[in-house]
Amino acid sequence: MDKNRQFLLRKRPEGLPTPDHFELIEAPVPEPRSGEVVTRTLYLSLDPYMRGRMNAGKSYARPVELGAPMEAGVVGRVVASADPGFKIGDIVNGPGYWADYSVHKAASLRKLDPSLAPPSTALGILGMPGHTAYVGTIDIGKPKPGETFVVSAAAGPVGSLAGQIAKIKGARVIGIAGGPDKCRYVVDECGFDDCIDHRMADFAEALAAACPDGIDIYYENVGGAVLQAVWPLLNRHARVPVCGLIAEYNDVAPRPGPNLRNLLSNRILMQGFIVGDHAERFAAFFADVSNWLRTDRIKYREHTVEGLENAPEAFLGLFSGSNFGKLVVRVAAE
Ligand code: NDP
Repeated sequence: MDKNRQFLLRKRPEGLPTPDHFELIEAPVPEPRSGEVVTRTLYLSLDPYMRGRMNAGKSYARPVELGAPMEAGVVGRVVASADPGFKIGDIVNGPGYWADYSVHKAASLRKLDPSLAPPSTALGILGMPGHTAYVGTIDIGKPKPGETFVVSAAAGPVGSLAGQIAKIKGARVIGIAGGPDKCRYVVDECGFDDCIDHRMADFAEALAAACPDGIDIYYENVGGAVLQAVWPLLNRHARVPVCGLIAEYNDVAPRPGPNLRNLLSNRILMQGFIVGDHAERFAAFFADVSNWLRTDRIKYREHTVEGLENAPEAFLGLFSGSNFGKLVVRVAAE
């Protein structure tokens, strides 16, 4: 009988987690009850928000309990179904676990058609990160032709799509990413006008030089030192969709905030958002981005790690930028 390997949250981190915050155990493969479906994981999504779920404190998502399995978006093959809507062999996407098998409420799953797009894209460009980029850019950033649009974590699934959408909308687009390879990809493959390496000593000066007309939209994925360099460059009536603050997710104490005088004098609109509140925009996102993919107007990249056992180390790499593209773990062959 096959076993279900799964990672549990063993300890709550103070600062940057390490692999020993997770524990790999073996449990029996779950059986579905009425209205449930069991999947064999093919791909597991690793995302920055999971760091917040490792904390006990109140946030927009409830924490993972100590000793409970780590949660994740998964793409899986149905291996047992107690719901008439799903049959064995269906390929599906939905919330699951860092595990070989997950049991799901049938209503939480969407069926994928592998003839339309590779199933792993349901975790990236055609899934939650893509949806996030779409909402933040179109609904909050609202780039107009000729405006300067800057996005951080620009080589990742959210940032690279946000910039490419802004480009389609006619903006001049500047990425911020870590290292020359990522910056080259952002410009040469994704078609951004420029990309600045945030690890360079003269990062703030280089960013200012790349934005001679200031910044009209800053799509924020990072916070920390990157936000500090962006802040004085924001123009009158600039918009700042605050999507993520990954540079601050391992902080043990809150940082002092930015000088709000600039926000007031320049009438800047800064808006935090959580993609889960924008389910009504999923259909428009999916239609537009599928179309842009088909017509080759946007590019995407996946960073695939082999083997469930490597999930913790791969996850920790999100905080040093060792992923280059949407981070997924291939847990079993398609
Ligand atoms: P990525 O795959 O881009 O991974 C994160 C990247 O952030 C790293 O590869 C690294 O890229 C960069 N990074 C990490 N630490 C730092 C640091 N200290 N300073 C500067 N850059 C850093 O992630 P996603 O595209 O999946 O997510 C991007 C952001 O969007 C995250 O903050 C995430 O939490 C947020 N998000 C928010 C959602 C919402 O609903 N609001 C939904 C989904 C994502 P590099 O090498 O270029 O530095």
